[in-house]
Amino acid sequence: MEITVVGSGTVVPHPERVCACYHVRVRELRILFDSGPGALHHLARFRLGWQAITHVALTHFHTDHIGDLPILLFALKHGLAQPRSAPLSLIGPTGIAEFLRKLKESFGDYMLDPGFPVHVRELADGGELRLDDVVWLRACATPHTEASTAYRLDTPEGSLGYTGDTDFDEKLGKFLAAVDVLIAECSLPDDQAIKGHLTPTRAAALACLARPGQLVLTHVYPQLEGRDLAALVRLAGWDGPVDVARDGMRVAVRG
Ligand SMILES: [Zn+2]
Ligand SMILES: [Zn+2]
Repeated sequence: MEITVVGSGTVVPHPERVCACYHVRVRELRILFDSGPGALHHLARFRLGWQAITHVALTHFHTDHIGDLPILLFALKHGLAQPRSAPLSLIGPTGIAEFLRKLKESFGDYMLDPGFPVHVRELADGGELRLDDVVWLRACATPHTEASTAYRLDTPEGSLGYTGDTDFDEKLGKFLAAVDVLIAECSLPDDQAIKGHLTPTRAAALACLARPGQLVLTHVYPQLEGRDLAALVRLAGWDGPVDVARDGMRVAVRG
C-alpha cells in the first residue's frame, strides 16, 4: 500500500499546501480521502493518475475537504481522451446523498451521471464497507460537525487511519487502534485551541490511545507554521514515530 499526501493544508491559501486530500494505492484500488480545493491539480503534479480513481471517501462537507469533487467529476467526463466506463464510488457520512443532489442542482447532471456509473454510499458512525474482496473501509463519527467522520482502511498490505477534522475523542482513539499509519489533523497551537480541532497536546493524547505505527500530522494552520510540530507532539507525550505531512510526501506500508 502506498499513501501520498496530496494536500496537507487548510482553508488558508498557502504556496505549498493545498486543501485536504490523500491518495491511497492498494491492490487495484485508487482511493482519495477528501478532495479539497487544489487536489486535482496536485494529483496531476505528483503523477497519481487522477483518471484511475476508483473511490472517493469524504470525511465531511466543509469546503476545504470537498471543493475539488465537482472538478474531478467534470474532468472525468470531459478531460479524458477515451470515455470512462469504470464505476466510481462516492462515499461519505450521513447526508452525502443529499449533498450530491444539491451539487447536481448547482453544477449539472454530470455530478451523478457523468457517463459512467457513480455509486453513492452513505457510511454512518460504526458503518463498514468492503471495497474489494479483502479491503475494508470503516467509519467513526468525530466531534467536529454533525456529520463528520474518521476512516480506517484495513487491507492485507497494512492499515491506515485518517481523522478528517476532529477534536480529541476517546472512542475515536480506540477506533484507530494499532493502524500502521495514522494521518491526524493538528490544526492549531495549544494556546490557540478551539473546539472541534486537534492541537499538539490533543493529537498526542489521541496517538497515545491509538498507538499507530507511524503518526503523520496534517491540516496545519499558519499559526503552527515554523514551529517544530513533531517536537511539540513528543513533548506532549507521544513517544512513537511522528512526521509532519507535506504535499507530495509518500508513505509505503508493508502489512
Ligand atoms: Zn472541517
Ligand atoms: Zn478542514
